[in-house]
Amino acid sequence: MKYLDEYRNGDIAAKIVAEMRRVQTRPWVLMEVCGGQTHSIVKNGLDHLLPEGVELVHGPGCPVCVTPLEMIDKAHAIARSPKVIFCSFGDMLRVPGSDGDLFSIKSLGGDVRIVYSPLDCLKIARANPEKHVVFFAIGFETTAPANAMLAWRAREEQVNNLSLLVSHVLVPPALEAILSATGNRVQGFLGPGHVCAVMGYSEYDPISARHRVPIVITGFEPIDILEGTLMTIKQLEEGRATVENQYSRILTRQGNLPAQQLIGKVFGVGDRKWRGIGSIPMSGYHLRDEFSRHDAEKLFDVAEIATLEPEICISGEILRGLKKPHDCPAFGALCTPQHPLGATMVSAEGACAAYYAYGRHLNPQGADKLHQIVPGPVRDDVSVKPREEREYTHAGR
Ligand code: SF4
Repeated sequence: MKYLDEYRNGDIAAKIVAEMRRVQTRPWVLMEVCGGQTHSIVKNGLDHLLPEGVELVHGPGCPVCVTPLEMIDKAHAIARSPKVIFCSFGDMLRVPGSDGDLFSIKSLGGDVRIVYSPLDCLKIARANPEKHVVFFAIGFETTAPANAMLAWRAREEQVNNLSLLVSHVLVPPALEAILSATGNRVQGFLGPGHVCAVMGYSEYDPISARHRVPIVITGFEPIDILEGTLMTIKQLEEGRATVENQYSRILTRQGNLPAQQLIGKVFGVGDRKWRGIGSIPMSGYHLRDEFSRHDAEKLFDVAEIATLEPEICISGEILRGLKKPHDCPAFGALCTPQHPLGATMVSAEGACAAYYAYGRHLNPQGADKLHQIVPGPVRDDVSVKPREEREYTHAGR
């Protein structure tokens, strides 16, 4: 456990925060992109450790949250078909659509199955030739390689009773949309560590240059996030705007090239609707025409399904960094993880769900007593080494 301890060390956290205080001269608004980062921030109370004036707002990087409600309804319509075995990762089963969730469809006799890898669907399809197997392929670039592999193998191995319901979204167009929107507050990003492990981070250079915003690709542990925040503040204070890599123990500038090649063979890029935000140009993957016989949206009659979000929900503004869960009148009252009304409450990684899970519906100032990190006193005899000088014991990851 030495590896994790190191990234959750209160003394190191205190030194990084002290360094933020030393370099910060004015207020800054930063956005963490990933839902996993949001969860870590709220769980560990990191936002409450930051110097006054440094604000973290929560971005659109929770894949379950941004899957449009109408896509959930399409999935449910397909899953109700008696000839279908509907396969999904477990986190989608309790996401409510307009009329129940996948669990309720399963309880009424629908053949809904949790899989641990998309490739499990190949085995299920071969074992059930009289049925059609549909895999719910959602997520960011992170999950795209495994989903692309499923479509590729289904076509190559002629498993024709298998298709994918694809709702993949891409991070860079979302950042572009956030920065271009009227009233944008975001001045710097903690970039998406897992996405960049697949895609690399060179595609963020033009966004950073065009909008003059620092983008620091950041990990998920508390020290990662504090370090990414410090690196972003330093850029802002120095008037720089470049893409930097805090998460260098995991990812490289070019990313995983074989995975990118596979994605390119299977998926094309097109417009995609994001739950709570709306349509963003060229922000999603779609199966290429060569994979039409494995495209569930083409095989099932679900094109006409369209669903509206509840009017009270402000998750679109939360996902763009304009508001926080506390600003929503339904937060913790009408809307809870058991009865989610909107995008950011449906998944544990959503901002509203994270605030609720760590008690912030009980205390509007935040659940300070729930902090996992307890920074020690700032000691002058301990210096925080720059990231590249520190020794990490878990080099294999
Ligand atoms: S608390 Fe619920 S209704 Fe309010 S913004 Fe969050 S998800 Fe939407």
